[in-house]
Amino acid sequence: MNYISTRGEATPRKFCDILLEGLASDGGLYLPAQYPRLDASHLARLRDVYTRQGYAALAFEILALYIDDIPAADLRALCAKTYTEQTFGNAAIAPLKPLEAGLHLLALSNGPSLAFKDMAMQLLGNLFEYELARRGETLNILGATSGDTGSAAEYAMRGKKGIRVFMLSPHGRMSTFQQAQMFSLREANIHNIAIEGVFDDCQDIVKAVSQDLAFKRQYRIGTVNSINWARLLAQVVYYFAGYFQATPSNGQPVSFAVPSGNFGNVCAGHVARMMGLPIAQLVVATNENDVLDEFFRTGRYRVRAAASTHATSSPSMDISKASNFERFIADLLGRDGARVAALFGDALASQGQFDLGADPAFARVRAQYGFVSGKSTHADRLATIRDVHARHGLIIDPHTADGLKVARQHQQPDVPMVALETALPIKFAATIIEALGQPPARPARFEGIERLPRHVRVMPADAAQIKTLIARECAA
Ligand SMILES: *Cc1c(COP(=O)(O)O)cnc(C)c1O
Repeated sequence: MNYISTRGEATPRKFCDILLEGLASDGGLYLPAQYPRLDASHLARLRDVYTRQGYAALAFEILALYIDDIPAADLRALCAKTYTEQTFGNAAIAPLKPLEAGLHLLALSNGPSLAFKDMAMQLLGNLFEYELARRGETLNILGATSGDTGSAAEYAMRGKKGIRVFMLSPHGRMSTFQQAQMFSLREANIHNIAIEGVFDDCQDIVKAVSQDLAFKRQYRIGTVNSINWARLLAQVVYYFAGYFQATPSNGQPVSFAVPSGNFGNVCAGHVARMMGLPIAQLVVATNENDVLDEFFRTGRYRVRAAASTHATSSPSMDISKASNFERFIADLLGRDGARVAALFGDALASQGQFDLGADPAFARVRAQYGFVSGKSTHADRLATIRDVHARHGLIIDPHTADGLKVARQHQQPDVPMVALETALPIKFAATIIEALGQPPARPARFEGIERLPRHVRVMPADAAQIKTLIARECAA
């Protein structure tokens, strides 16, 4: 399998080449040159593998379709090492929980950081360690986080050979629980840096350091952000696992509802659908930051300014633009790299928006690709959390609530709907207390983490000081 850029740069690359890279050299995102199409017998075999051998074996079968530069035995071992009951708290890894007639939750947030990002990040940690060892190289991961990404990355990279993590977060602005999750880690390769500023200051520092190409090369600076193809690929697996659990056989279509921000999660659903998994609808649910809902309703994609990006009670979906969205548009436009470059390179840079509403391609978004959308507000979120608690005795997190609200709007008779559960409620206790007047349950392994010693440096919002710190740690 070769990988090419959404913007047309066509020098073929292999999986391990793009694993450690960010954007393609033309500024586009990497996509496989084509999606493997699974026929009925292949799909039947995957169901059998999943049923008999479980999630890790299914993950190997799917990853192997996209990765031909890691020996099969090694890839199988990496999957087996990643998707364990010990790491994900249950043998099914991503169990399906029936909620009511025709509506299920797919539990994706029982990993170490209690958010679905662990499903991909845990694999990424093992892939990075494997590939760096094979090349005899090291990597310094520099990232900015306002919560979920940082803790998922740190729990995936802790103790990994050849890898250091420098994670910037806005000082005092994450929830107490999220701070404790990250700052309680004691591994010497994890560096928490609380920046005196807001999340945008953290991101600006990452950008400034990455733009210093000499520094970036000398200190082998890398990222783990959601545009990484390996993360997306790892997420494709649970659409298959969810499908197999929701259906008795492969004739039955299923819809998925996905709480969305950067479009990484639901883009994996799109890939699964392109491979031939019988998905009826892909339901994109946004919060008040409705960049994606606006596009799927009107065809207009309009990036928001920082000032009009709302801080909401489902904060992991507070985005001004959806960084993975370019991948779907590339498929929609038949991989016309010049057009994708014109939209995402030129139009967004000069006007901050583009409009496909009048383009014949826009009609295909729903008819051919199955996308529909909706938006959920703070009031909707609270109402959904209360409703699910009253009817099912279950407490769901605010992001999952957004997904469920929009899922119910799009349910069709005779098509099971699978809503993705993207975090556990303990990460967002304040909103749960607001909705229910009681705090959510806390998994036993997180008992008392707020009282553990904190490993964090507080630093000013100054890229030069971050560079000095990285250089010093590398010399140590
Ligand atoms: C990251 C995240 C999302 C959004 O996922 P995208 O891939 O960015 O669309 C939704 N819910 C939770 C809890 C998250 O951490």
